[in-house]
Amino acid sequence: MHEQKSVTILGAGRSGLAAARVLHDLGAQVFVSDQASLSPSARRELLRLHIPFEENGHTDRAIAQAQLLVLSPGVSITAPIVQRARAQGIPVWGELELGYYLCPSEKIIAVTGTNGKSTTTKLIEGLLTHSGLRAISAGNIGTPLVARLREITPETIVVLEVSSFQLESIEKFRPAVAVLLNIAPNHLDRHGDFSNYARTKCRIFENQTEHDLLVLPRLLQLPVQPRSRVLYYDDLLPEFAHLRVSRHLKENAAAALAACRAFVPTMPPPSEELVCTVRLPHRQEFIAEIGGVQFYNDSKATTVHATLAALEAFAGPLVLIVGGRNKNLDFAPLAHALRSKEICEILLMGEAAPQIAQALEAAQITTFSFVRDFSEAVARALRYPGATCLLSPACASFDQFQSYEERGEAFRDAVLRRAVQLVPEEI
Ligand code: ADP
Repeated sequence: MHEQKSVTILGAGRSGLAAARVLHDLGAQVFVSDQASLSPSARRELLRLHIPFEENGHTDRAIAQAQLLVLSPGVSITAPIVQRARAQGIPVWGELELGYYLCPSEKIIAVTGTNGKSTTTKLIEGLLTHSGLRAISAGNIGTPLVARLREITPETIVVLEVSSFQLESIEKFRPAVAVLLNIAPNHLDRHGDFSNYARTKCRIFENQTEHDLLVLPRLLQLPVQPRSRVLYYDDLLPEFAHLRVSRHLKENAAAALAACRAFVPTMPPPSEELVCTVRLPHRQEFIAEIGGVQFYNDSKATTVHATLAALEAFAGPLVLIVGGRNKNLDFAPLAHALRSKEICEILLMGEAAPQIAQALEAAQITTFSFVRDFSEAVARALRYPGATCLLSPACASFDQFQSYEERGEAFRDAVLRRAVQLVPEEI
């Protein structure tokens, strides 16, 4: 980016703004275009930097001068403005591709999969840091790569959580180590069908050569054959036999260890303490025990696949809270798995509740009811002392909440409010 280039950024969210800032600092001419109205802070920031922008729709101004179009992860490559740019021969990169292009380190570990990305990314960062190496995590896990570039030197190991949305718009992105954890139906509302989604996930190794490593489970069927060196993380599972954590957490830890060994071949398996300290909130997280009921928050389970993992992790009588916004997923596998569980009651919430009810009825499950909110769900769960009450929605949160975090916090609040009500006042 030595000569003056004109770059348009689509989307003024966290990633888009970070990209705008970095490109502006590099001396590029930047234009930002958002199809919705900008938040007051985004507007302030762009005005402060004298970066021109448009909002409430992309006009031709967005591509008139652009030599490059940078997409935020929220913008689909099928958006008409993106199609028009492509038709005019303007290169289209996602924020990830831009971050990769500008990244000073080639030591990149990229993690994708339907579930377990954040946990595995955190585990890899934790294991490397614990071994005394300099590692930072970025990407879908929180801070976009472009926003962390200043902290990266050629020696830094960059651990990237990469989503299917980000992989849609890569070009040369080539991680030294790619981790592909699993592929199960997700985001079919954006990717159309499962085979498209699976192929998009496989783009994580698209540019890898035999000098790069691909870590994946042995039984994962790939629609595209890799050129990379392949390592099956399940082969490391025996090293985790001693850990008292769920099967899927062991799998994530085995994948993390396999990836780390590309840089530290003698790295020992992590202790249970290390695995547990890097656990993230809203993933099978214990909240409290009230009236003999243990409450767990798994709000990040926004797919059927993640809820199935939770069902496997919890034995004993269960009150399950499911529902939210369906991402075009089939609930039949969930209903099927519930048939072999000891269920006290299934509590259905949100937009997808009628659809889940249908799937349950089709599987001859009748122990369900509809609840309005978490307060009602918690009150109902308290009818079952000895049970575990698990919020593991199998759906996105956007019908009622801003994010899965907000949903998880609302659940935690409802549980803790109830706990306070039940504690007899001390005199
Ligand atoms: P992601 O970043 O891919 O969404 P997270 O680590 O945030 O993954 O976990 C999201 C949900 O998936 C949580 O409910 C978690 O318990 C579940 N999960 C984590 N790892 C796995 C796995 N390997 N297989 C299935 N589900 C998993």
